[in-house]
Amino acid sequence: MQLLFADQLGPHFVVDQKILLPEVLSQFKKREYHRQKAHLILYAIRSRAQDPGVELVGIDNYRSLRERSDLTIAVNPTSYPLRRLVGSLGVQVVQSRGFCSSEQEFADLASAGKQLRLENFYRRQRKRLGLLMHGDEPEGGRWNFDSDNRLPPPKQGLGLPEPYWPEQDALDDEVRATLDELERQGVRFRGEDGPRKFAGNREQALRALEDFIENRLDLFGPYEDAIDSGDSWMAHSMLSAPMNLGLLDPLEVAGAAEDAYLKGKARLESVEGFIRQVIGWRDYVWHLYWHFGEHYTELNRLGASAELPESWKGLDGSQIDAQCLSSTIREVAENGWVHHIPRLMILGNIALQRGYAPGDVNDWFIDSFVDGTPWVMPANVIGMSLYADGGQMSTKPYAAGGAYIDRMSNHCGSCRFNPKKRVGEDACPITAGYWFFMENNRAQLKSNFRLRNAYAGLSRLTDLEDVMEQENNRRRL
Ligand SMILES: Cc1cc2nc3c(=O)[nH]c(=O)nc-3n(C[C@H](O)[C@H](O)[C@H](O)COP(=O)(O)OP(=O)(O)OC[C@H]3O[C@@H](n4cnc5c(N)ncnc54)[C@H](O)[C@@H]3O)c2cc1C
Ligand code: SF4
Repeated sequence: MQLLFADQLGPHFVVDQKILLPEVLSQFKKREYHRQKAHLILYAIRSRAQDPGVELVGIDNYRSLRERSDLTIAVNPTSYPLRRLVGSLGVQVVQSRGFCSSEQEFADLASAGKQLRLENFYRRQRKRLGLLMHGDEPEGGRWNFDSDNRLPPPKQGLGLPEPYWPEQDALDDEVRATLDELERQGVRFRGEDGPRKFAGNREQALRALEDFIENRLDLFGPYEDAIDSGDSWMAHSMLSAPMNLGLLDPLEVAGAAEDAYLKGKARLESVEGFIRQVIGWRDYVWHLYWHFGEHYTELNRLGASAELPESWKGLDGSQIDAQCLSSTIREVAENGWVHHIPRLMILGNIALQRGYAPGDVNDWFIDSFVDGTPWVMPANVIGMSLYADGGQMSTKPYAAGGAYIDRMSNHCGSCRFNPKKRVGEDACPITAGYWFFMENNRAQLKSNFRLRNAYAGLSRLTDLEDVMEQENNRRRL
């Protein structure tokens, strides 16, 4: 009998006809999950349990599985603790699935002495998988269309139809009742309850994929980085949750995108950009989780130790004045999701500037996002967003001031702050926060070659003392 985990729910994980699928409600007692995330996980487990050959078992902790003598096989799970668990069960463990490259392939690349960079890894993936390739040459003569893909949000919006929303069914009601009961027992969830927006079974996941390919993929590229305060979803796929639950195989997702290009349904810069995310970034951060090791989340090279504000912990945007942040926190409360740029350039950037403790930020993202998993977060948060690894993941911190947000979003127009001002009543906390960060971390960062211009700029600021005093005293963003 196969032991199946909650992120292995699609057909590509099946290696035995009989399946045991554990549901561990006690995990919700350990941490404060977004209610919609808990809902999605329970819905996905219970939906899969309706398939023939699947036995659902409610357990208090995974260790109790040691009492089951009928378990014979498992697909290697996605976290260190669960790998230790399957190692202790005496079952056969087969190679992990749900990604586009094997752990061995990445280990070979990492040990080949080549610099570990996304771009090298991505090109290897494209060649190996033959996606958007003509022999050894990339389709369109270029590997990367990022420079064509940096448009701000258009004033009139993208004009796309609403994304596919799964229809709520009796199982959603049942899950809601379970969560209500847990709350009565004292379990705390964060964020709002609401209609489930993410695919929770294979059928819904395939519909979500089809809807994205038909209606949104073509505009994905040009507006990939744009933030529109009136449209959380833009032309993004919202497929991370079904992929991370194992409901969709990323190879089928990338293949569907390539097919759309070949049929003339979507432009190359969009399809290349999307495939780069799926076979490049997603696989890359997965492999880095193992490559960097279990203690990577404890790194804190910039010595950041500030506590997360209550507005973050409680997902309460009303306690925040900065329009970009309050709107993003509100969207996280409402949906358990925002797209990549608010995650990196608003939440990550502000956490970096304000020196929030990296381990806490990592956990906050895991618990607050419907697609959050232990493997996806370390490279994205500890490495890319917070530079807490001292540069193993990125060559420089992703710090940016309000000018970036003003260029790529429509938040600043309705904000009480001015993105161009760094001192005064209406000084933008992101612009001032940028210089505050650079000055606070001067000792660690000043010799970074890629920050040469930034430090030259800092040395020209005549009001740096005022900025530092103002930001040291800022109690509320
Ligand atoms: C601070 C931070 C936190 C993040 N947290 C998560 C998370 O909890 N779960 C998660 O799956 N992704 C996470 N990401 C990566 C990325 O932001 C999300 O995958 C994406 O926004 C999900 O929305 P989407 O499915 O519409 O993605 P799209 O924009 O449509 O992109 C397509 C797919 O590419 C993959 N992808 C793109 N970038 C990344 C990346 N950097 N890491 C991993 N996969 C990537 C995802 O599977 C995504 O579904 C995070 C990034 C940052 C900077
Ligand atoms: S002015 Fe500053 S705080 Fe306000 S929305 Fe723009 S970047 Fe954010």
